[in-house]
Amino acid sequence: MDLNKKIEDIKKELENDLQNAKNGSNANNSTLDEIYVKYFSKKHGVITELIKELPKLSSDERKEFGPIINDLQDEYKNRIGHEKILQEKEQYEDPTIDLTMPLPPKESGYLHPTTQVIREMNKFFRYHGFSVFEGPEVETAEFNFRKLNLPEDHPATDLQDTLFVTQPEILLRTHTSSVESRVLTNYRPPIRVVIPGKCFRNETPNKTNSSFFYQYQGVVVDKGITMKHLKATLELVHKFLFGEDTILRFRYKYYPEVSPGMGVDMQCKFCKGVGCDVCKQRGWIEMLGSGMIHYNTLKSCGIDPEVYSGFAFGMGLDRHVMQKFGISDIRKLYGGGLVYKY
Ligand SMILES: [Zn+2]
Repeated sequence: MDLNKKIEDIKKELENDLQNAKNGSNANNSTLDEIYVKYFSKKHGVITELIKELPKLSSDERKEFGPIINDLQDEYKNRIGHEKILQEKEQYEDPTIDLTMPLPPKESGYLHPTTQVIREMNKFFRYHGFSVFEGPEVETAEFNFRKLNLPEDHPATDLQDTLFVTQPEILLRTHTSSVESRVLTNYRPPIRVVIPGKCFRNETPNKTNSSFFYQYQGVVVDKGITMKHLKATLELVHKFLFGEDTILRFRYKYYPEVSPGMGVDMQCKFCKGVGCDVCKQRGWIEMLGSGMIHYNTLKSCGIDPEVYSGFAFGMGLDRHVMQKFGISDIRKLYGGGLVYKY
């Protein structure tokens, strides 16, 4: 059969049907709907049937008629859609409404979970009189180690498996304490700051460890600052983040940049301290390291440790974020995949 003629016939018939729908007394949406079904229904639509014929043609014919039939389909689907919009417009009889206008684009996307948590925490600390600071991710050994009571041969500098840009002086900061030493060097007490930021360590990535991660650092220096202030601040922020029924446990822990150092655990929310998979049967989850800023740290930053004292804490934010959003693999936070929805 002459395919060209068949296509021409279908076009004529379609034009005719559309004209009738427009002028006829029964011009209504259902007629346009009926036309759509007649030509495009999946089962017996006239044009659908034509498309089904395509694979049976020779390859030359397919090359010739494939695009023609596709264009035919696109053109008349659009035409029918357009006629429908015009009909609906007439029904409303309101010339001020332009139903053909495209819709405003849908809002899509969310802030990254880590960004959400950082903003929430910043809000809390700003309310309590803290300033939010940032510092460079590429840092000098001086601010990252030496001023923090960590001389180069200190075992902690080995333990941290630092990523160096130029050994031994330029590196990717291993903690946000590097910004703490910058603040203590450049500002005089009273100091109350928080520092959210990305840190880097030479780790092999797995479910719970990544070579980069977020820390949230807090620093307070003033006359008469004690452990009592540190504990109260930590109690408050954890209750703010995890609810009033949050129970914290404080225990002695060694960190070179503070003395005394204090580890902080939170009672597992899932099992109330009994032990479960989330807390690895411990009943407690390690939240952060903290302590009173070391005498030497204050001194090397130019603050008189005989007059002033202060505390500092640093939380790994990724675990907070993973707990809060139920994310089981830290790599999801940095992978750029869009699988998770909140
Ligand atoms: Zn548990």
